[in-house]
Amino acid sequence: MSNLDREAVPAQCGGRGFVVAEPVRELLSPRRVQLGESTEVRRLLPNLGRRMVGAWCFVDHYGPDDIADEPGMQVPPHPHMGLQTVSWLHEGEVLHRDSTGSLQTIRPKQLGLMTSGRAISHSEESPKAHARLLHGAQLWVALPDADRHVAPHFEHHADLPTVTAPGLTATLILGSLDGTASPGTTYTPLVGADLALTEGAEVSVPLERDFEYAVLSMSGEAHVDGVPVLPGSMLYLGCGRTELPLRAASDAGLMLLGGEPFEEELIMWWNFIGRTQEDIAQARSDWMSGARFGEVVGYDGAPLPAPELPPVPLKARGRVR
Ligand code: MN
Repeated sequence: MSNLDREAVPAQCGGRGFVVAEPVRELLSPRRVQLGESTEVRRLLPNLGRRMVGAWCFVDHYGPDDIADEPGMQVPPHPHMGLQTVSWLHEGEVLHRDSTGSLQTIRPKQLGLMTSGRAISHSEESPKAHARLLHGAQLWVALPDADRHVAPHFEHHADLPTVTAPGLTATLILGSLDGTASPGTTYTPLVGADLALTEGAEVSVPLERDFEYAVLSMSGEAHVDGVPVLPGSMLYLGCGRTELPLRAASDAGLMLLGGEPFEEELIMWWNFIGRTQEDIAQARSDWMSGARFGEVVGYDGAPLPAPELPPVPLKARGRVR
């Protein structure tokens, strides 16, 4: 998925200054964003008051949408730099193509992990023959400076490890939880786990005291540390926790996101993450001139043009609002 905003506004993120060191319960409301013609997403990160959770820097939740008589997701070829994209589905399927030659259908509870490194481009679409419902999340993970120029690559992991407790099945998307690790490649200490709760579940998930955490609700009625979190919203939890109490009044689907606070200061603009104004301007110019980001083969449609860069210089330092 992509940031299709035509009015792309730079987000300055990262750095210790924005991390809450102690446990908090800060409910984040989504912003509705139209993606192409037929998909509306709820954007949880970046949010007005919060830009990152560990290295997680972008979270869109979409659906469940009935797309039986519609094309569904249609995101044309677009570039990425300095990040990984995580595709996670609860219903339906997404066909991923990228400039390294990948062609992969991603299905529910399978990990589609694309590491852009220095440059990649990709498209995402609902296959022509698709399930009635489409429901999922698209997330980005910022790459640390030491790894942000790695060669672009795509991973598909269809069989992910799980951790179970009465009423809970946790599927490891990225990183590790309670000693069980996802096979997906990571570049900073973090976790992304799908938490499937059954009705009536009361369970506690072990956390790392030094990590910063948030929980996204995708479905059902769940309480996270006592706070009801409705589908499409996210509860930021801060740091300093060793466990997280969960309760489910119905079957519920949550996503646990966490990681070591991301110390580096970043500039996120459109689909790029850089460190300087020049990084971003160069990436934009390379994409528009057809350089560096390669070519996506087989998508029925034109690549996405980049929006105009804002006239105000982008700076990694400074206040968030
Ligand atoms: Mn994308």
